[in-house]
Amino acid sequence: MNFQQQLAVVEGLGVPPDTQIRMDCPFCQNKNTFTVTTTSNSIGWYCFHASCSAKGKKNGEKTMEYVNVSFKKEDIKPQEEFKLPDSFKIVHSNDKALQYLHENNCWEACMWGRADIKYDVKQDRVVFLVKNPNTNKYAGAIGRGLNSKVYPKWYMYGNKDIPFKCGECKDAVIVEDCASACAVSNILTGIAIMGTSLKESHKKYLEPYETLYVALDRDATRKSYIIASELTSAGFKNVKVKVLHEYDLKYYGTPEIEEMFYGRSK
Ligand SMILES: [Zn+2]
Repeated sequence: MNFQQQLAVVEGLGVPPDTQIRMDCPFCQNKNTFTVTTTSNSIGWYCFHASCSAKGKKNGEKTMEYVNVSFKKEDIKPQEEFKLPDSFKIVHSNDKALQYLHENNCWEACMWGRADIKYDVKQDRVVFLVKNPNTNKYAGAIGRGLNSKVYPKWYMYGNKDIPFKCGECKDAVIVEDCASACAVSNILTGIAIMGTSLKESHKKYLEPYETLYVALDRDATRKSYIIASELTSAGFKNVKVKVLHEYDLKYYGTPEIEEMFYGRSK
């Protein structure tokens, strides 16, 4: 089979984005010899069986179509509501959690109710609750470990397709983590994608904004430009990269954020 034929078969498997799976080979039929690896804009496949030559990788436009198709299938799945575990306590019950909120400019967002923040006593994490904007119900949560033994540093509970959002401003900024989203939320709507790549599922939550800034942490500026160009090709207007020269956004207070994005004379 040539590359295009193989690609058609592999795309037909409907593997969602950002996945690595192992399965029976659709070409040689051997058991569990076939792997498929996807990201938001690529798909690769390989068969480990000695007699089989199935392998290939596809990046780019064609793959985006494939991702959109599998995304739409996912989209019609009913979104389950996330039940808060009993281990989630009010954030005031833990000093380290409060300290984290203060040190990372999340306290104001918490006090004003822009962010719903808890403390997970079981995992020793400060937990940012994620709401589904369509149903206004909890969809999941994102927890930041509060001691070095907690792994991974960030943990996602429940739904992983909805980004964490904080604030109700007309312009939004895409950031890496929840703390940065809270830090900006007095000035801009903060949207945390939990990492440096945008998931296909995130895009529909980015639509209602006038200007969409991308401001990943300063060590990921190149990724900010990649995301901005992905969004522009997906039809988003007015996407701008905000390069951070010194610190991540969570280390700035409201006045600095305002100056950084709008200048003093807003
Ligand atoms: Zn094979």
